[in-house]
Amino acid sequence: MNKDVGFLNFSVNKILTKEQSILDQARVRLLYYGLLLAIVAIAGLVVNIYLDHQYTLAFTSTILLVSIIILFKYFTFRPRWAIISHILLVLATMVNISAVFIILQKVDIITAQILLLIIVFSFYMLGQVSGMFYSLMNLIPVLLFQILEYDNNYVIDVKPLVLDQSTVIIAGCANFILIIFMLSHFYTAFIRSIRELKSVAEERGILNVEFGKVIERAEKSAQAKSEFLSIMSHEIRTPLNAVIGMTNLLMLGNPRPDQKDNLDILKFSANNLLALVNDVLDFNKIEAGKVVFENIKFNIPDLMQNVCGGQRLKAEEKELEFKVLVDPGLKNKIVIGDPTRLTQIIFNLISNAIKFTPSGTVWVNAQMLEDRHNIVNVRFSIKDTGIGIEKENLDVIFEPFTQESLSTTRQYGGTGLGLAIVKRLLELQNLRVEVMSTPGVGSEFSFEMEFHVSTEMVPVPEVYSQQPAAVIPADSLGHLRVLIAEDNMVNVMLMKKLFSKWGITPTIAENGERAIEMVQYSNFDIILMDLQMPVLNGFDAATEIRKMRDPKKANIPIIALTASALFDIKERVFNSGMNDYVSKPFKPDELKEKMQNLVEIPG
Ligand code: ADP
Repeated sequence: MNKDVGFLNFSVNKILTKEQSILDQARVRLLYYGLLLAIVAIAGLVVNIYLDHQYTLAFTSTILLVSIIILFKYFTFRPRWAIISHILLVLATMVNISAVFIILQKVDIITAQILLLIIVFSFYMLGQVSGMFYSLMNLIPVLLFQILEYDNNYVIDVKPLVLDQSTVIIAGCANFILIIFMLSHFYTAFIRSIRELKSVAEERGILNVEFGKVIERAEKSAQAKSEFLSIMSHEIRTPLNAVIGMTNLLMLGNPRPDQKDNLDILKFSANNLLALVNDVLDFNKIEAGKVVFENIKFNIPDLMQNVCGGQRLKAEEKELEFKVLVDPGLKNKIVIGDPTRLTQIIFNLISNAIKFTPSGTVWVNAQMLEDRHNIVNVRFSIKDTGIGIEKENLDVIFEPFTQESLSTTRQYGGTGLGLAIVKRLLELQNLRVEVMSTPGVGSEFSFEMEFHVSTEMVPVPEVYSQQPAAVIPADSLGHLRVLIAEDNMVNVMLMKKLFSKWGITPTIAENGERAIEMVQYSNFDIILMDLQMPVLNGFDAATEIRKMRDPKKANIPIIALTASALFDIKERVFNSGMNDYVSKPFKPDELKEKMQNLVEIPG
């Protein structure tokens, strides 16, 4: 409501505000013009009645006129349309009933008009309940009067007034004008409301389109960011691979002790950098929702042995006690799950335990909590006697790029991504990581995971089941005809050097298309296939080779060389018919082992 309206205001525009709805604005206007019209009409009536010498009626009408003028003035000062409408309706009801029962003692067209006015006005101004109330308050007495009149038993002591025809005409006209005015007003407000609704809907439609565009832009920018990260990481990985590969080569060449120390530092730093790039890449992928969990068979004790093998060395380097306890009940069980992801989670937690424990013990525990029918529930926990974490930081440390404090960063390095990855990977499987920690005493990170147990006795996948391959003398590979499809010259040089140590002179194809040609025209025992190459990539080249007519060529073992740490690569590698993969920078021993697994080594 407009609070600035002065007492002397007579303008309707000042009592209209933008906050009022279309319907309320129409009510204010209707009341304003309706009261004005009523004032003019009643004033006319008063004069007419006075001239007609009906002084009593003229007097009552004057009181009515004054009341309406006061209401009008009040309304232009304080536009409380609801209260004023009630007052007007009470007045009208009194006039109507007294006119029918006392003053005129009859029901005529004027009564009908007044009834219509009251019904329309009350419904329009005050809504259904009040509308119904005032309508019945006026209709029932009029009907009652008609019944009494019909029975001829309505007789009171007051003589009815007979109105002059001119008064009837004035009242009739004024009433009709008021009824039409009200209805037209109501109709206009109704149409305006509908129009407004329509335009609001249109605006909303436009807004939705805009909103959609903004979301699309945000998604695109997130995608661009994620792609940028992938590409950058890939670009960083490629030269890093060369650094690590070259270090491996130099290490194979019997370096002097001082050179070996330097090479160790070089390898350590490059591996750290690579781990960091992989973490960023991994986290990026998880955040982009691109992680698909595998369901393959594996054995938990084997997996634990695999994860803990390398970590044990790290712990020993720091002179920490490293204790691994795997429930014996899990020994003969082949479970179904995602070993790569589980390895990653446990690996990150053990790395942290070792990193943040200056002295004491690190315990790694896989305990079977439940073994029912074909499901096992296992609790994995990694406990240390390290620096511990303050209670208020227990949530923060799981946020990406967050470490407990600046001094942690300074003292221990790291990106603050390890725990974020652990948390997200578990969350994606509807699991939670629990942490208990006391500063200065130690920490324990744990989570529970359920696995289906395989009933068939299927061999466990190679990666986790195999005993370390028997060391085969280097020259046993010497007879192999190897084709390397690789476009990066530094990598080619590295591989050549490495292969020369095994007595192999590989053939090089600089892209997938050349590799196919070479396979067609020469004979090879094994192909090492880079995946990202110009002209034709490794996946397509492998698919083409698998389609060759000569079964010997179509079945040549192919090992993919992947530079990317992306998870779906594995699936694509196998789908395109390749036998195995090594991720760059590959460890010479790993590559050798995989090659030996795929080709027949003469006894
Ligand atoms: P980063 O290890 O790269 O710093 P994480 O996400 O793995 O990143 O860990 C986040 C932080 O959580 C660490 O910086 C450290 O402050 C704290 N933290 C994690 N594990 C432990 C632990 N076992 N003991 C003490 N603090 C830990």
